[in-house]
Amino acid sequence: MITITPLLALRDNYIWVLHDQHHAVVVDPGEAAPVIEFLQQHNLDLSAILCTHRHHDHIGGISELQDQYCIPVYGCPHPQNPHITHAVAANDTLEVLGVPFRVLELKGHLDDHVGFVSSDSVFCGDILFGAGCGRNFEGSLEQLFDSLKQLEALPDATHVYCAHEYTLMNLRFAMLCDPENATLQQRLIHTIALRADNRPTLPSTIGLEKATNPFLRCNQPEIIETLQARGLQSDEELMVFMALRAWRNGE
Ligand SMILES: [Zn+2]
Repeated sequence: MITITPLLALRDNYIWVLHDQHHAVVVDPGEAAPVIEFLQQHNLDLSAILCTHRHHDHIGGISELQDQYCIPVYGCPHPQNPHITHAVAANDTLEVLGVPFRVLELKGHLDDHVGFVSSDSVFCGDILFGAGCGRNFEGSLEQLFDSLKQLEALPDATHVYCAHEYTLMNLRFAMLCDPENATLQQRLIHTIALRADNRPTLPSTIGLEKATNPFLRCNQPEIIETLQARGLQSDEELMVFMALRAWRNGE
């Protein structure tokens, strides 16, 4: 039985720790200190690191962890990310604490971005957030759209482990796009309560994101109408997505 625990790091990053009674695997350790503290507290041995992409807030703690533990680091190699020891690419499979994971190639944020999906969980880095999506720093918006489509295609019950606590901020923007959405309104109320208690809003699920995340709802009449009222001349899903991403960039 695997437990998945978030460690808050830097300002609003989550380092996800998968662990059983004895071993742990961490995803995107932007800092080493909270990981080491958790491992010591729970008497766990670190067995691997999963890395979604090379942004410093996702890899900043890896070298210190490598100094202390002789462990594989799975991810997409890049000259700016020298820590990867085990290169992965789309559809590769790996086993984490006995659980099989498949690699998703998720471009459109950075070129080296990958995700890791099991039968009930996905670690999606900075591609999909609670009620939002990542920014397009490299590659095209079409690639970001395609990455979100890959995630949207996962079973609704799949738990979504994003790398940042952005949900509340994203929901406020989502309410501008989709104000009549009752599920969205409920999610906002629930999220405000969670954050007031300083509790994580994650993981969410693919089903909840499909119901409330405007970036996964670009084919829905409400979202299309909102964008058209702001001057969009198209109802094509990709065009709606691009207009939505551009609007969010300016908010
Ligand atoms: Zn990033």
